[in-house]
Amino acid sequence: MYRSHTCGQLRLKDAGDKVTLAGWVQTVRKFGAITFIDLRDRYGITQLLFGEELNQELDQNPLGREFVLRATGIVQERSNKNANLATGDIEINISSFKILNKSAVPPFTIQDETDGGDDLRMRYRYLDLRRNAVKKNIELRYAVSRAARNYLHQQEFIDIETPFLIKSTPEGARDFVVPSRMNPGQFYALPQSPQTFKQLLMVSGYDRYYQVVKCFRDEDLRADRQPEFTQIDCEMSFVGQEDILNMFEGMIKHIFKEVKGIDYAEPVERMSWDDAMWNYGTDKPDTRFGMKITNLKTPYTVFETKDSSKKALPLGEGLGGAFGVFKNAETVVAIAVPGAAEYSRKQTDELAEWVKRPQIAMGGLAFVKVNADGTFKSSFDKFFNADQLKALAAFCNAGPDNLILILGGAEEKTRKAISELRLEMAERLGLRKPGEFKLLWVLDFPLFEYSAEENRWDARHHPFTSPKPQHVDIMINNNPVIENAEKYLEHPYADIKANAYDMVLNGNEIGGGSIRIYQRELQEKMFAALGMSKEEAIHKFGFLLGAFEFGAPPHGGIAFGFDRLCAILGGSESIRDFIAFPKNNAGRDVMLDAPSAIDEKQLDELNLKLDVK
Ligand code: ASP
Repeated sequence: MYRSHTCGQLRLKDAGDKVTLAGWVQTVRKFGAITFIDLRDRYGITQLLFGEELNQELDQNPLGREFVLRATGIVQERSNKNANLATGDIEINISSFKILNKSAVPPFTIQDETDGGDDLRMRYRYLDLRRNAVKKNIELRYAVSRAARNYLHQQEFIDIETPFLIKSTPEGARDFVVPSRMNPGQFYALPQSPQTFKQLLMVSGYDRYYQVVKCFRDEDLRADRQPEFTQIDCEMSFVGQEDILNMFEGMIKHIFKEVKGIDYAEPVERMSWDDAMWNYGTDKPDTRFGMKITNLKTPYTVFETKDSSKKALPLGEGLGGAFGVFKNAETVVAIAVPGAAEYSRKQTDELAEWVKRPQIAMGGLAFVKVNADGTFKSSFDKFFNADQLKALAAFCNAGPDNLILILGGAEEKTRKAISELRLEMAERLGLRKPGEFKLLWVLDFPLFEYSAEENRWDARHHPFTSPKPQHVDIMINNNPVIENAEKYLEHPYADIKANAYDMVLNGNEIGGGSIRIYQRELQEKMFAALGMSKEEAIHKFGFLLGAFEFGAPPHGGIAFGFDRLCAILGGSESIRDFIAFPKNNAGRDVMLDAPSAIDEKQLDELNLKLDVK
């Protein structure tokens, strides 16, 4: 027996017992003739006391940090207790020990607050994983996976593996490809998700499928994305949207309960995509706080400029007297920030700089302070009188002490900017509370989005998502070709809504799915809408179209971003913290030094010749 207990196990009640522990040396503290060692394993830390006799032995075989040690002794009460440690009431008075392995000096301290930078820790990730802070994340990941699996198992889902070496099929992102030695000149692709396989499993009759599965997407890595990531991937047959929403609301609530002890009793709020975009400027709003967006450029938004006593003008034009940018702006939007009217000139200047950063790229920021005493102060006082400011404040639902922030510009960019500004202000005001969790379903997405690059429709979710039943006819009866690029919004396809849904948690999309197309005709129509010829559709998706001819049941599903879900539940911004061996922002594994070149012989076997640009 290597050890009788773990380093996190012993308590005062064990005093007097003879025990053997094994683990890593965290610290060595020598006090004259005695030495204290903190021994660490996965379960915790226990203090070992080496008395006078053993000290000589220790002098001959000095212990360093991260040495692997096995030690036997008697549990005794500590005189100097440590309330921060589960084992802090006791120590082990060691009678014999053995160094099981030595360690080089670790490149950073293996402690919660380490001195190691990101790159160094990733290079020595196996040491980083010894740190308690990282270990807690890995354990949480397992707890989330276990809770999801238990729930799905109870609901009669079965876990079915699907292949990793598949055919390259467009699903939105770029595929990673793998050359086939046995089939010269041909390539497999790694799945962006098991989407088509899970649909085929429905055709096969496995009406409740799930998999905690790796997905691969060769995307430009935006912040906090990984080229390989994990999904909880699910599919069900004989269901409509309502069934899916209920089933997976249940799963998330179960995870909250099991992993965080949270009873999320209330039904998950539902919001249409239109409302999300209109009120929050994003399809994944953080609804832990209000601060909804007010659209100031509607025909019925009326204000007057000082020098005009005539009929009120739309605000864009009214403000246009002050700022040309607002007059010409496609969109003018505002948020009323509670409790921020005291912002100093310096602070508002700093906010104006914030919106000019390249990530936001707005030209400037206008503001109105609604002072507690009912007076106003704005960045355009010269042009607006108190009554006009009052009307503006009322229109923005801004109460006393609010700071109204206004942005104007091109529609998409401005909405995105005000949405970012809303989050930033909430962050500054402490409204995005780490321990608070708010779920949201976003529904009724548009089925298509316009690709300006190719002047055609793209699937907003993926090509297997079905239109709302009442919109199927629009799809069947209209030609998808966009004659006039400028007026693509007037094309009937722009109105088609999808049977698709996203689950949002604290402003992050944690899951998304849809009710699928299951008839060959509609699926073919979809491929055609995306600009695929009949031949191309058969070449790429013939297997699926074929399967739809053999009694495909109505079906739908969802996939959750497992890494992201773990990160949010663990209170972290970064999914990397929850992946044992993650890649860096450039998609590299700095520990393995991958990707890397392969040698000539391998290339030869694969019939590949490189022409690196
Ligand atoms: N396969 C989809 C995705 O990865 C999820 C789904 O529709 O179930 O986004």
